[in-house]
Amino acid sequence: MRLFKRTLPPAAAPLSSRDFINGLFGLFNGRREIERFSNEIRTYFGVKHCFLVSSGRAALSLILSALHDLYPDRNEVIIPAYTCFSVPASIVRAGLKIRLCDIDAETLDFDYNQLNFLLSNKKFSSCNNRFLCIVPTHLFGIPSDIKRAKTIISDRDIPIIEDAAQAFGAEDKKLMLGTHGDVGFFSLGRGKAFSTVEGGVILTNRDDIAGRLAEKMAAIDCVNIIHLLALIVKAAALCIFTRPFLFWVPSIMSFLRLGETIYEPAYPIRRYSAFQAGLSRNWIEKINHFKKIRRKIVQKWINVAKVKNLYAYIQKRGVKYDLIRFPIRFDDASQRNRVLLRSSEFGLGIMPGYQTSIKRISSLEEYLGDQNCPQADRTAHILMTFPVHPFIEQRDINKIMAHLDEIR
Ligand SMILES: *Cc1c(COP(=O)(O)O)cnc(C)c1O
Repeated sequence: MRLFKRTLPPAAAPLSSRDFINGLFGLFNGRREIERFSNEIRTYFGVKHCFLVSSGRAALSLILSALHDLYPDRNEVIIPAYTCFSVPASIVRAGLKIRLCDIDAETLDFDYNQLNFLLSNKKFSSCNNRFLCIVPTHLFGIPSDIKRAKTIISDRDIPIIEDAAQAFGAEDKKLMLGTHGDVGFFSLGRGKAFSTVEGGVILTNRDDIAGRLAEKMAAIDCVNIIHLLALIVKAAALCIFTRPFLFWVPSIMSFLRLGETIYEPAYPIRRYSAFQAGLSRNWIEKINHFKKIRRKIVQKWINVAKVKNLYAYIQKRGVKYDLIRFPIRFDDASQRNRVLLRSSEFGLGIMPGYQTSIKRISSLEEYLGDQNCPQADRTAHILMTFPVHPFIEQRDINKIMAHLDEIR
């Protein structure tokens, strides 16, 4: 156990006491505060429709059921085989079927040959309209090649849901991620690019999708007083404990299961609260500030990877990457695990990605049958991420480098 020692969180979008007070003010504004945030998002991203809900997975589940209303004869959703476990959980919850597409082990994006195969193979396209949608994912904030997915889809009418959960405010050559598909969503959860404790944002320019979403929104519950109190307590805890000099406190509480992704289809779907909208005030300034720092630290990690001869999933110097964690891999899994052990021993903020591929989630393995994904399986064993958040200092980077030297 590490008591009283500098401990880096793996990711952070810090909340200040000022934000917390804004949250309480937001509460008194009620609906108006939520509308303010939603209007600001529409303007900033230049989209027609925005919906705010309790989480990224709630957003995805509403999008899926809206699409299923529009295309009732289709029921399969194509997702990357290495992604957040909330994604398959949302598909199962919506009563739909998962179709895995393996990832490209070099980029973490889809294996586009396999995507092409899925969409053009007779076996899959015989009942041509089985695919409800495709979910390209900007993992860690690395832009997925949505143009390429669109080329493969070509003239078929298969909607794209852009999973930009980890990419709120992130850009790809000046274009905002989350606005390229038919519909996109962000997560405002802990450990994402920008956080209001929890939260999900849906963006779309399609009136038909927005119409269905509006109907679904009208039917979901508001937060009650218990949820609200829980949000307030969590916000206060985040304000206090995310700092490196106090992060040892949550890091020794194993019941928090920090950094683990859990497969759980029975999550709540609720509206966003005025308290959370209040927490978001000045969000544009804040994300610009976070982006500036994260871009700088990403460049430092790119250099470290070059110097130490490590495989980094992004390598181009001088390109602006809006990542929330910097993914890297160690081709020897046992070596990676030694780094992770050191990290928890010394509070270095290095984390694995997801524990397994989607295929190996124990409650899904049988159901996914012969859908294999060797690249995703392997990636789960060798990937790890370095922190890039605003608390990182040069001494932290030096410390991590020294530990890497000792291990290799
Ligand atoms: C976090 C995340 C989600 C789910 O968002 P929550 O707000 O945690 O429900 C979905 N997809 C990806 C890629 C994520 O990282």
